[in-house]
Amino acid sequence: MKGVVFTGNRTVAVREFETPEPQHGEALIRVLATGICGSDLHVYRGDRDMNQIGGHEPAGEVVALGPGIVNLEVGDRVSVHHHQGCGVCDMCARGETVRCRHGHQCYGVSRPGSFAEYMTAGEANCIPLPEQVSIDDGVFMACVGTTAYSALRRIEARAHESLAVFGLGPVGLSAVLIAKAMGLRVVGTDIAPERLELGLACGADAVVNAAEEDVTERAVEFAQVPGVDWIDGVDCIIETSGSTAARECMIPSIARYGRIAIVGVGQDDKVINPTQIHGKACTIVGSVVFPLGWSWDFARFLATSGMSFAPAITHRFGLDDADEALRTADEGRCGKVMFVG
Ligand SMILES: [Zn+2]
Ligand SMILES: [Zn+2]
Repeated sequence: MKGVVFTGNRTVAVREFETPEPQHGEALIRVLATGICGSDLHVYRGDRDMNQIGGHEPAGEVVALGPGIVNLEVGDRVSVHHHQGCGVCDMCARGETVRCRHGHQCYGVSRPGSFAEYMTAGEANCIPLPEQVSIDDGVFMACVGTTAYSALRRIEARAHESLAVFGLGPVGLSAVLIAKAMGLRVVGTDIAPERLELGLACGADAVVNAAEEDVTERAVEFAQVPGVDWIDGVDCIIETSGSTAARECMIPSIARYGRIAIVGVGQDDKVINPTQIHGKACTIVGSVVFPLGWSWDFARFLATSGMSFAPAITHRFGLDDADEALRTADEGRCGKVMFVG
């Protein structure tokens, strides 16, 4: 079978591999679609030859089962959660396999991933897709969609509240789509005009070009409700950009007792001012991916809400066009870029 390997310094190779055999407790999955993620781009830009198949956002069909399988059957459609933990430590017991204290394995990094025709995955990581949920939506369930859902859940975002989404890449666009399905009012910010357009296409009520406009001023203005004169900021913020400039706007833009989730990976270490946090009495949470069990909750959310991630998908490639696919994602002027089988 074909597989795509990150070979370092923005290069990739399409190579032939043996189709893997599912081991005890594993399923063999025919990958029908798999997303390119921001974390893949960190590997793509790095200088390491990974020497194994990349990718960690697959959805597909179970085609074979190893021994010891409890629930799955051949023919099931599944989304694969990308972090395989040891299964026994305190983090795994909470479903936080991403934070496993030993034996942590991430598909596409420490074990073969999904940029391939087939992959194997542990049964607990294979989340069955309800019949209403498409394979494309299963790709978002595997990583960015559930990450956005979990950030909204951690800050207890509620219908009719105002939300600012800083950064309209795939996680930010997912947050816009989910928040709209939950009934919030949403303003999105970015510096790429293409991504502002995508924000509107995903249902944002307003967008702000952070390169040209004052984000805090626009966010506070957006939060206003006619006839209510005391609103001093947005109720919720999801920070996905990792940008220092964006992070400096978080506390000035939030309402008193507002809630902020930091999702983006950034380099800064000194933009949060405790005096401002105290003054706003706001809550700031770090939100790293999501616990495994929330994938099941999110599958149900997709099935009941009827929402779809289709507006956030801008490019689809075959594995043979991996070079162009990665270049497109790397340029950052797109929504979700996917490989389709
Ligand atoms: Zn991802
Ligand atoms: Zn563990």
